[in-house]
Amino acid sequence: MTLCFYNTLSGQVEDFVPLEGNKVRMYTCGLTVYDYGHIGNYRTFVFQDILRRYLRYRGYEVWQVMNLTDVDDNTIRGAQAAGISLAEYTEKFIKAFEVDRQLLNLETPEIIVRATEHVDDMVKLIQTLEAKGYAYRSDGSVYFSVRSFPEYGKLAQVDLAGLRPGARVDSDKYDKSDVRDFVLWKAAKEGEPYWETPLGPGRPGWHIECSAMSMKYLGETFDIHSGGIDLTFPHHENEIAQSEAATGKPFVRYWLHAEHLIVNGEKMSKSLGNFYTLRDLIGKGYRPTAIRYLLASVPYRKQLNFTFDSLHQAQHSIERLRNFRHRLTVEKFPAGENPGLPARAQAARQAFEDALDDNLNTAEALAAIFDLVRDANTAMDHGEFRGVDRPVFLDLLERWDRIFAVLEDTDHAKLRQFGLADTRDASPAADALLGEGPSDEEIAQRVAERDTARRRGDFARSDKIRADLLSAGVILEDTKAGTRWRRK
Ligand code: AMP
Ligand code: ZN
Repeated sequence: MTLCFYNTLSGQVEDFVPLEGNKVRMYTCGLTVYDYGHIGNYRTFVFQDILRRYLRYRGYEVWQVMNLTDVDDNTIRGAQAAGISLAEYTEKFIKAFEVDRQLLNLETPEIIVRATEHVDDMVKLIQTLEAKGYAYRSDGSVYFSVRSFPEYGKLAQVDLAGLRPGARVDSDKYDKSDVRDFVLWKAAKEGEPYWETPLGPGRPGWHIECSAMSMKYLGETFDIHSGGIDLTFPHHENEIAQSEAATGKPFVRYWLHAEHLIVNGEKMSKSLGNFYTLRDLIGKGYRPTAIRYLLASVPYRKQLNFTFDSLHQAQHSIERLRNFRHRLTVEKFPAGENPGLPARAQAARQAFEDALDDNLNTAEALAAIFDLVRDANTAMDHGEFRGVDRPVFLDLLERWDRIFAVLEDTDHAKLRQFGLADTRDASPAADALLGEGPSDEEIAQRVAERDTARRRGDFARSDKIRADLLSAGVILEDTKAGTRWRRK
């Protein structure tokens, strides 16, 4: 089969052919470093990792650039609230993101770039847009004139009918229903970081950052650009407008977008507060590989509904594969041949590769291997597995794990080195939402402990228990008949 991807730009599944030989140039919108990454973010990053791993598996040479958004509305707000400089504020989350990527076995992109280190490139691009008549100034800021670029809307299928000439939007994120001229350069504001530039004092808008950085390292036209589905509009639509208006050339050939990880029907996001960071889950005792497996198990264009049940299942699935590998390695098998087994392994490898060729259908790629493991275990139980089959099956597992990368766990020493082995800083709000909070028995026991403390006059302790329960979503009411509790 040929490798094919669903291209958001054409709305079709297309054969993948890079621009130049077997080189693949791809750009990944990285994390906005104003907080720890949550597992919704990591769903997209795991998808991008599987994409690059499979391209390499298929013999392509991958040249991937990932940016870190270290200046935008969110990072500036975060630094202001923390009362520290933007650089100090983002540094902590940049480091944490690096650790998380290691824990999740995400390969390191060839180039990782920070927006704040490329302001000159952004300014130059904005100057080009101004010179060509696509941008205009207003009150010290520079805007992209959506009307001047007739192809505006081709990625996200935006309807421009309601567009009012000259209406502008200054925030980085906004809705499709709110299409307006968007900001390229924001005039300096009191209390915000700014750069002195030929455009005047100010800072870049979010969208120009990715246009400038991607074209600087990958050229004016490159192969793949990807992100979560929420980036389609306005971020990627605006990137296309800025880049193609400036160069007159097609910007990106294949646009790949991952559907969201959701919780109880809603997108996991920082603004909704329904999120778990990777650290939260490690703190609860889940292995990073189980989290990676879960995030990889649903094909990227399907929503992934996060539950703790599925995380447990992920852990079990990995254990099954590890047990199989262990058995393959240590068990003694009779000599001779069983011609059926190598053929079976070959068919599984074909099914695995066909599945990934088909727009990275990870669910089928997993099924191909699990079917084979079941058959091989049965053959072993019946004494039909032969010594010569061993390397064939080990090779297949190794190939499989080049993509899924879950057979080797991050050891405890490494977790401790990152200060993560013993954390218990899980998110009570998200816990309560997923019913992961304390059980009825646990609550009753805590209430009894609190009663005892109160009778002893130890109010510090009784207050602490009440506060702990409250943060786990449990409300206590003291009545004449004793203490009653209910969940929020
Ligand atoms: P941000 O830090 O907001 O710039 O997001 C980093 C990446 O995570 C982007 O590609 C987003 O599209 C992606 N993302 C954010 N929330 C989710 C989610 N719930 N599911 C999948 N991807 C997400
Ligand atoms: Zn971007």
